[in-house]
Amino acid sequence: MASITLDKIVKTYGASTAVHGIDLQIADGEFVVLVGPSGCGKSTTLRMIAGLESISGGTLKIGARVVNQMEPKQRNIAMVFQNYAIYPHMTVHQNIGFGLYTSKLSRAEKDARVQEVGRILGLSHLLERRPAALSGGQRQRVAIGRAMVRDPQAFLFDEPLSNLDAQLRGQMRLEIKQLHQRLGSTIVFVTHDQVEAMSMADRIVVMREGRILQVGAPMELYNRP
Ligand code: ADP
Ligand code: ADP
Repeated sequence: MASITLDKIVKTYGASTAVHGIDLQIADGEFVVLVGPSGCGKSTTLRMIAGLESISGGTLKIGARVVNQMEPKQRNIAMVFQNYAIYPHMTVHQNIGFGLYTSKLSRAEKDARVQEVGRILGLSHLLERRPAALSGGQRQRVAIGRAMVRDPQAFLFDEPLSNLDAQLRGQMRLEIKQLHQRLGSTIVFVTHDQVEAMSMADRIVVMREGRILQVGAPMELYNRP
């Protein structure tokens, strides 16, 4: 796990600026939620951290290393999307194991790692199933398992719960929070839902129009006039 440092990070698309020089220090093991209305630059910021989007200005560090020019794979940052990104034709085991397909582990080592991740996520009894035979919450856990299996430096979540019904959303909030407590992972979680931000974050970063408006612990922001 590692800290993440954004130093005057800028993103421009042609003549328009999506992110206007953001400064943010995310501590090793911290759970940070980026919150704000649609279009304020949350997803762009997350994608720059992941290396899925080029950085137009500023410096991005993971731990002590500047990663501006580094490929996503080298950063070893795991991204979990709202549409799950799991393969319907593969079993749960194969889906989770897919995260290891470029690794040099032996087949037995890969299998052990998949079993371990399956245990952590409560999927052990479902490893031979395909996604169609899983519930929404189980599928979400498979997507997290795929991200976890490589032991990433940090997890990035881009509105992962917004397609789920209210009850499942509540349950998954709790599960992701528990996972954070168990693994001590650095997590950056994007949502437009303030309740979600309040219930999950160590620290909330409120964004508006490509800038940071406020940063604080949930209770600090809640009590501020
Ligand atoms: P959010 O995640 O907060 O909804 P985004 O980061 O997706 O916001 O978008 C921030 C701004 O950047 C928006 O104005 C959006 O239209 C713009 N934007 C995002 N991606 C692109 C792109 N590929 N090309 C041009 N503009 C983009
Ligand atoms: P193959 O047997 O040709 O490798 P599979 O579709 O059985 O193809 O598995 C593909 C990969 O998924 C394997 O390399 C293995 O690591 C993993 N895998 C899938 N299911 C299991 C399982 N039940 N036990 C161990 N490994 C599995």
